Amino acid sequence: MMKYISTRGQAPQLTFEEAMLTGLARDGGLYLPETIPQMSKDDIAALAGQSYEEVAFRIMRPFIGDAFTDDEFRGIIERAYAGFAHAARAPLVELAPGHHLLELFHGPTLAFKDFAMQLIGQMFEFSLKRSGKKVCIVGATSGDTGSAAIEAFRGLEAVDVFILYPHGRVSEVQRRQMTTPKEDNVHAFALTGHFDDCQARVKDMFNDFEFRDGVGLAGVNSINWARVLAQVVYYFTSAVSVGSPYRSVSFTVPTGNFGDIFAGYIAKQMGLPIERLVVATNQNDILHRCLSQGDYVPDGVIPSISPSMDIQVSSNFERALFFAYDQDGAAVSQLMDELKSGGFHVSQGAREALRESFDSGRCSEDETSATIKRTIETTSELLCPHSAVGVHVAEAQINPATPMITLATAHPAKFPAAVEAATGIHPPLPSHMADLYDRSERVTRVDNDLHALEGIIRERIAH
Ligand SMILES: *Cc1c(COP(=O)(O)O)cnc(C)c1O
Repeated sequence: MMKYISTRGQAPQLTFEEAMLTGLARDGGLYLPETIPQMSKDDIAALAGQSYEEVAFRIMRPFIGDAFTDDEFRGIIERAYAGFAHAARAPLVELAPGHHLLELFHGPTLAFKDFAMQLIGQMFEFSLKRSGKKVCIVGATSGDTGSAAIEAFRGLEAVDVFILYPHGRVSEVQRRQMTTPKEDNVHAFALTGHFDDCQARVKDMFNDFEFRDGVGLAGVNSINWARVLAQVVYYFTSAVSVGSPYRSVSFTVPTGNFGDIFAGYIAKQMGLPIERLVVATNQNDILHRCLSQGDYVPDGVIPSISPSMDIQVSSNFERALFFAYDQDGAAVSQLMDELKSGGFHVSQGAREALRESFDSGRCSEDETSATIKRTIETTSELLCPHSAVGVHVAEAQINPATPMITLATAHPAKFPAAVEAATGIHPPLPSHMADLYDRSERVTRVDNDLHALEGIIRERIAH
């Protein structure tokens, strides 16, 4: 039976279902499976030609223990992806010889977050119906997690969903996706501050055990293991379609919280022949600096045209550090303490371990716009600014022997201002949300104040 352990080594071991419902471990750490299930070469070869849902079942099944029967789990997966607008779910297109783009934006809120959130919504619903429990989901978002979470949980009876986003720092489409749902279990909070402030307050709530237990707090931020797991699947589907397991592949991933690229690391640990995992950052390049120089020292967020990657505290990086430090929870715990007082230095050995899998690169604002423009001219693919960061960084890393797959993390219509400024083209919203600008909004302005936030949440769920 698969057990989940904390990256800080001090929290009780949990089952998959418990880790999913909880999110953050009680010692402040993040849950990881105790061992990584293996896919043999034959197992991987047998994925060719299967539906996305079938691959999802085969990849995730060994991680979930007895949380769901096979039939239940197949049903959950079917329902999760039924609302996607593309039959392939995650189609792969060729940008140039040897460079492929994995389109992860055909879900209901037009960003890759839908892959995990739609699945988690179905798993929560199943699990809570069975237990009769209720939960209160609180999440921080730089824009896309919040809209994906609200879309996945709106109207579910056993769930209240509270989303904190940085006021004035998300795109209008992102904001409207969070503020226009009418269901009264949905609560959008605009917080005065940056994404890192939103994320810090959510972490504080999880560390306030009285509040946490009192309201039945559950986290669906990218630290939730079930989200990472859902994202492992498309590394397999895309790699197999360019020739794995008989060919190695590399991936470039527009990165903020390190969740998406960490899923690639898990795919590699499971046996997928991944040569390089390239972390692509925008001008908020703390991960690029840390991977290339070893110091992780936050120095303030600079708002960019790829706002979902505007981040200084990259939560899931802790999971990569846990492996780089040979699963030493005490060492990780110490680094995270040092981070609280300014930053930390990654040891020589741990840096070498990270560099066995990860490369990195950064893309400036001008380079992002130029990449959007050049790509539409040479390929007819209209990139969102995050995907453009990925494409720019990938181009510098391509090596003719190994196919490169760059993850396209959002639909251009989610970031119309940046796309229009770069190309003169105003990307239209897909028809199912064409009236987004006409719907009325509902949002609560909140201060960056833990006590006040907890008060509002308590009051809302009492009704
Ligand atoms: C969340 C997000 C990212 C960053 O993903 P992480 O898993 O946080 O690294 C990149 N692009 C878009 C569009 C996103 O929504």
